[in-house]
Amino acid sequence: MTTLAQRLAAVQGRVQRACDQAGRDPNTVQLIAVSKTRPAEELLEAAAAGQLHFGENYAQELRDKGAALDGQLPPGAVWHFIGHLQSNKVKYVVPRATLVHTVDSARLAAELGRRAAPGVPQGVLVQVNVGDETSKSGVNVAEALEVCAAVMAVPNVALRGLMTIPPAVERPEQAAQYFDALASLAAEGRARGLPLTELSMGMSHDFEEAIRRGATLVRVGTAIFGERVKPV
Ligand SMILES: *Cc1c(COP(=O)(O)O)cnc(C)c1O
Repeated sequence: MTTLAQRLAAVQGRVQRACDQAGRDPNTVQLIAVSKTRPAEELLEAAAAGQLHFGENYAQELRDKGAALDGQLPPGAVWHFIGHLQSNKVKYVVPRATLVHTVDSARLAAELGRRAAPGVPQGVLVQVNVGDETSKSGVNVAEALEVCAAVMAVPNVALRGLMTIPPAVERPEQAAQYFDALASLAAEGRARGLPLTELSMGMSHDFEEAIRRGATLVRVGTAIFGERVKPV
């Protein structure tokens, strides 16, 4: 049996090595521990081992876990919201989540901006469905930059980049084309003046590939916390 601290250290080591191989500064890649379905005590354990960024998928779970851990996580702890978000649940996510990775419309961005405290813009990423899968949320590649421009114009929202969940593939190398697609889309957006500096891509089975392709935020659950009991 490995401990959470050991698994976390192993993932951190893999992030470091992927950065070395890609000639990237490890400070440009943020590891997000995806803690959905995991009890609050495990987040404290991860925090004690130095992990400060946490990702949650369910609005109410973020609300409840955030409240339970209020004042217990070390200063500098950061919440990310990475699940599908409905407008009526925005109130559970703001202001807890520093970054909402899953914005797919200017309308949702507007609701986030309305809920955020005045002068404290809500950080957001636009989720892109790079594989054009009907089962996945996110905007299609063809309309992504248009949506980004609309989100950028929303008051009290700060657009920071793009996020994707690529189609399920057998080997991580097969995800490379999707990571590349997100990276080139962001580059095209930046050339048009959109502030797309963050690339949220890569999960337990493919985060090293994502780092090689330019990820700045990797979302890792299973490799840190172990298999989830409730499959998500
Ligand atoms: C669950 C989840 C992850 C983490 O997945 P693992 O395979 O457990 O690392 C990352 N991103 C999103 C959007 C998720 O829902």
